[in-house]
Amino acid sequence: MPTLDQIVSLTKRRGFIFQGSEVYGGLRSVWDFGPLGIELKRRVKEMWWHHMIQEREDIEGIDSAILMHPSVWEASGHISGFTDPLVECKACHNRFREDQIEERNCPLSKSECDLTESKQFNLMFQTHMGPVKKEGSEIYLRPETAQGIFVNFENVMTSTRKKIPFGIGQIGKSFRNEITPGNFIFRTREFEQMEMEFFCEPDKADEWFEYWINFSKEWFINIGLSEDKLRKRAHTDDEKPHYAKAALDIEYNFPWGWGELETINNRSDHDLKSHSEKSGKDLSYFDESTKERYIPYVIEPAMGADRTVLAILCDAYREEEVDGDKRTVLRFKPQISPVQVAILPLSKNEKLAETSEEIYKSLKSEFRAQFDNTQSIGKRYRRQDEIGTPICLTIDFDTVETDNCVTLRHRDTMDQIRVKIDDIKNEISKMLKSF
Ligand code: ATP
Repeated sequence: MPTLDQIVSLTKRRGFIFQGSEVYGGLRSVWDFGPLGIELKRRVKEMWWHHMIQEREDIEGIDSAILMHPSVWEASGHISGFTDPLVECKACHNRFREDQIEERNCPLSKSECDLTESKQFNLMFQTHMGPVKKEGSEIYLRPETAQGIFVNFENVMTSTRKKIPFGIGQIGKSFRNEITPGNFIFRTREFEQMEMEFFCEPDKADEWFEYWINFSKEWFINIGLSEDKLRKRAHTDDEKPHYAKAALDIEYNFPWGWGELETINNRSDHDLKSHSEKSGKDLSYFDESTKERYIPYVIEPAMGADRTVLAILCDAYREEEVDGDKRTVLRFKPQISPVQVAILPLSKNEKLAETSEEIYKSLKSEFRAQFDNTQSIGKRYRRQDEIGTPICLTIDFDTVETDNCVTLRHRDTMDQIRVKIDDIKNEISKMLKSF
C-alpha cells in the first residue's frame, strides 16, 4: 500500500492532479484535475453511467441545475438538519468536527486544552442570486445532487412513461463547507457525486436496499478495486443522515485506514412527501394494477467520483524491482487507464517518422493513444508504467527495413511480442483483454 504522499507526488509529477490556484500558493483542499486525471475521472464516470443508466431499462439519466429554489432545501431538511458538530480550540482557535477527534483534545496543540461546547454548523454554501444582495435573494450551492432528481420525479416519470419501480441517476458537482477537509481529494468542499434515486413500493424497499448494496460493491470490483480492501459498514442510529431510515457505507481501506466511498440510503418517502407538502404539488404515484395511490420509497446509492479516483490510484500503485532498478507502476484496468497504448518510435530518426505517424493516426481514433519520441526507450517505458499505460508499441529499424512488424509490450508482465502492422488493432484489443 503506498503512502498518501507517494500518491500526491506521482499525481502531480505526471499531470493527474494539481493543487488548485497553485500560483497563488494554493487554496486549501481544492484540487484541479490535469490531463491524465480528467481522463481517469471521465472513465470512472462513464463506466458508472454505462452500467447504471445506459445498460438498464429501469433507470433514466438527468442533469439538473446546481442552483435550486431555496424552498427545496427547507423541504429536504438541509437548512435545519444538514449540520456537523463544530468545536473550537480556545488556545489555537482551530475548528474541528467533534465526532472526528478523540476525547475532546485539540488534535493540533495536542495539549489538554479547552474546547468550546459543540454547536451545529450548517455545511451548505450560501450565496446571493442577482445583482443586489438583499433579503430573500439567498441561494445555496447544492450539497447533494439528489434533490434535483426529486423535484424532477414527476417530469421524468411522465415524459418517459416509467412505472414504479424505476430510478433516476445523475452525475454532478456538489458543495459542502466541510469543517475539516483533507486526505487529498478524499474530503473537499467541491466534489463530484454519482447518485441514483430508485423509486419503489414501500414494502419492497428493504429488498431493493440489499440489491443496490450488492450492485454497488460489484461495480467497485469491476472497475478494478481489490475485494479485500472493500467492506460494508451499516450506520449506527446516531450517524444516519437526517433523512435516512437505514444507511450502509461501502468503505475502502485507504493508506490512512477505512474511508467511505459510497452510502446506500433508504430515504423512505421523506423527500417526495416533504416536497409535496411544501410545493403543494402532489408527488404520489397511482398504481394502475392495484388501484392504489402511495408515495414511493427511495433507495439511493450515492458515491463520490473523486473518492473513487483516489481509491483506484491507491489500489493500482506498485513499486517493483526490475533488473536491480525500481519501477513504479499504476496497474489500472485498461478500461479506465487514461492512455491505453503508447506509440514509441525507437529513435527520432526520420526513417521511422512516417511509419510511426501513420500508426499513431490509425490507432488514435480507436484507442486512447499517446505518441512519444523523446528520451531513451527505457525512460519512456518507465514513464508509461507510471501513468498506467497497459501497452507500449515500439517501432524500430526492422519495422521499416525488413519485417513490417512492431513490438507490443505488456505493462504488467513486461513480455514483448512482435506483430504485423496489418494486425495491430486486433493484437492490441486482444492484449487489452488479457489484463
Ligand atoms: P462523510 O461521512 O465522509 O462526510 P457523507 O456520508 O456525508 O460523507 P454522503 O452524503 O453519503 O456523504 O455523500 C455520498 C458520497 O459523496 C460519499 O460517499 C462520498 O463518496 C461523496 N462525498 C461526500 N462528501 C464529500 C466530500 N466532502 N468530498 C469528496 N467526496 C464527498
